[in-house]
Formats: sequence, C-alpha cells, structure tokens
Amino acid sequence: MIKVNDNFGKLQESYLFSEIARKVKAFEEANPDAHIIRMGIGDVTLPICEASIVAMHKAVDEMSKAETFHGYGPEQGYSFLAERIAEFDYASRGISVATDEIFISDGAKSDTGNIGDILATDNMVALTDPVYPVYIDSNVMAGRAGNFTEKGSWSNILYLPCTSGNGFVPSLPAAIPDMIYLCYPNNPTGTTLTKSQLKQWVDFALAHKALILFDSAYEAFITESDVPHSIYEIEGARRCAIEFRSFSKTAGFTGLRCGYTVIPKELIGYDSEGKPVLLNKLWNRRQCTKFNGASYITQRAAEAIYTPEGRSQVREAINYYLRNASVLREGLAAAGLQAVGGVNAPYVWVKTPEGMSSWEFFAKLLSECHIVGTPGVGFGPSGEGYFRLTAFNSYERTLEAVERIKELKL
Ligand code: PLP
Repeated sequence: MIKVNDNFGKLQESYLFSEIARKVKAFEEANPDAHIIRMGIGDVTLPICEASIVAMHKAVDEMSKAETFHGYGPEQGYSFLAERIAEFDYASRGISVATDEIFISDGAKSDTGNIGDILATDNMVALTDPVYPVYIDSNVMAGRAGNFTEKGSWSNILYLPCTSGNGFVPSLPAAIPDMIYLCYPNNPTGTTLTKSQLKQWVDFALAHKALILFDSAYEAFITESDVPHSIYEIEGARRCAIEFRSFSKTAGFTGLRCGYTVIPKELIGYDSEGKPVLLNKLWNRRQCTKFNGASYITQRAAEAIYTPEGRSQVREAINYYLRNASVLREGLAAAGLQAVGGVNAPYVWVKTPEGMSSWEFFAKLLSECHIVGTPGVGFGPSGEGYFRLTAFNSYERTLEAVERIKELKL
C-alpha cells in the first residue's frame, strides 16, 4: 500500500493569490473599461540586464561546440561565480566568506524550503508574523508545525508578531526555539532591523544554541547605512546563522532562477546523542544527493552582474523600483494613510483605515481606485489590518496609482 506523508494533508489551501485573481476577474467582467493597476504579486517587471544577456549568448555558443560544451557542473555551483560572490557580496563589506561556504542553487525559495532536510523534525520553529509563507509550509510538510488552530496559526510554531505596536521589530521570545527564520529587508512589510537589533538575535541564538535562518533576498534594496546587508556583519553570526540570497530581485532573475546559500564551516548542529555535526557538510551532502546544480548558462548570467557594466545596470533597475517605492510612500502619506517599508525594500506595508480589515480594504481599493494589492492577513494573523503594495510596476503606472489613491474617500 502506498502511504503518503500525512503532513501534506494538514497544509492549508493557499487561497490568497487565487482569491485575489478571482475577485479581480469578477471586477473586470463587471467593469470592462476599468484600467486596473496591479501592485499585488512580488515579481519584477524590468528585463534582465544587458551584461547578463550578452553573457548568456556567449554561454549558449560555448554549449554548441564540443571543446567548450559544459555537461553536469559542480552541485555546489561553479567557482567562477562563487569567487565573484565571495568578493563582491562579502569581502567588499569586510566579511570573510570562503567559496566552499557558498552553495549556488536555483533560488532562495528552494533553499529556504529545503534547508529543513538537514534539521531534526522535533526542532521548535520561530518565525516573524507576517511572513513569507514558504517558511511555514515547508515546516508543515516536515511535521514541525503541529496543527492549524482557529486563530489562523500553527500549534507548534512560535510566532513573533511584527506590527506597528512594536515598530515591526520582533521581540525575543520567552520560549526557546531551535530554528529562527528572519527575513530582512522583510517581505511583506518592507521593514528592516538595524545592526544592534539584529545583534540581539545573534546573541540570543548563540546563548541557546539556536540556528538563525537569515533570508536576505532583498539585500540589494538597502539604502540606509545602519541596516546590515548580511547577518555575518554581526559578530558571532558565523556560529549561529545560515544566510540565503537570491538573484531574483537583485537582477531580475525570477524567470531565470539563481540564488545561493552560505553555511559557514564553524556552524554546528547536534545529533540525537548531543554530538556536534558540521551543517556545511550536511548541506553539501544533501545538495550532492538531491540537486544537480544551476545551469551553466544561468551561472554565467549571474557572474555578469558583478562586472562593472553589470553592476551599474543592476543598480539602475533597483533604483527604478526604489523610486516607485518612494512615490508610493509619499502618495500614501498625502492620502492620509500610514505606511512603512519602501526605503530599503520594494514593498510598502499600509495600515488599513480604522476598523477596516485587509480584505475590506482590498475591495475598496479595487472598486474605487482599480488598484490590486495583497491583503496583509494572507501573510499571517499579524498581517490583519495591513495591506501590501509592491514597487514592481512602471514609474508611470505607479504615479497614476498614487493619484487615484489620493482621491480615495477614507
Ligand atoms: N525569500 C523571500 C523573502 C521572497 O520574498 C522570495 C520571493 O518572493 C524568495 C525568497 C524567493 O526567491 P527566489 O526567486 O530566489 O526563489
């Protein structure tokens, strides 16, 4: 008899984006002349930069000749890319990361979702709320989450609420988790932690032998100087943290697929007998068994973003989105709405008007402004009463959206 993983049966149907799509479709059918501006889904809109396109063409040509063809590559990624990452993403900021601590992959979703393979299923998980849903669902699948409760949360997961009440800075919990997911700059709130705020988490993890899973997929959007680009800027983090990065939002690779994970060699976990085990070694084994590397062509494209032309082209695209984010922030403030984010991230997190739920605000914005955003409650219980708008639209459409929001009757 084929027995299935029962944990999959516990997963909650993700109604969020399908429900949004259904409501938008119904609205479009009833209002065929409405020009809808979509600021819901967090996908980039600008094309991949010229430097990466040129690099890919060259790599394709190499693949066409026996002398330069590439078959299976190293599961950990090619050293030409790992060396650029170590130099530009870390050494340039005074952080020492060795190339064999970098694992190149097809993106941060896979890595944040798969990392649990090397961690015990009875670890207690803590995560910020609202949250990028992959951290929750991958732990439900592994059996770490417990049961879904009426409160809209999982019984064995420790939620760290991030709301206007605490300035979107999670407080250290009284209970001691084993795995702590932190994502900064944050999706969905667009908020950040300062170095001293992040240091508290590093100190907490070190004191309790906990592991921080630090997702910095939005690192490239950081503009403020006291916001850490990497958790390894904090002393001691090499002994308690894994860092995930992505080329998706940095370089528009959402459809190309490339990211990487850093696991320092001194980072240890413990086996069931309490003996120390190197996490770098375990992840290497996991990747060699279950992953065959990101494609050569993709890794050449990623390498190209570190060339002088690539760096300036990528910066231009990020600045474009950041300008949209600032237009959004200013427009929302002018309309009398409170919002955070958008300074170091492509997301703006809006407080819904007094007494209005996330979904009620969604309906109001769609019907009165013809704008689509994402109801905050879809990212977790503490997202209720908030709404996410993204900067991944054209500048012109963003300006138009803001003009419409200013007309909103609150
Ligand atoms: N981590 C966060 C916080 C994200 O918001 C996203 C994508 O939206 C990802 C990871 C996924 O990144 P990738 O495209 O590299 O899989």
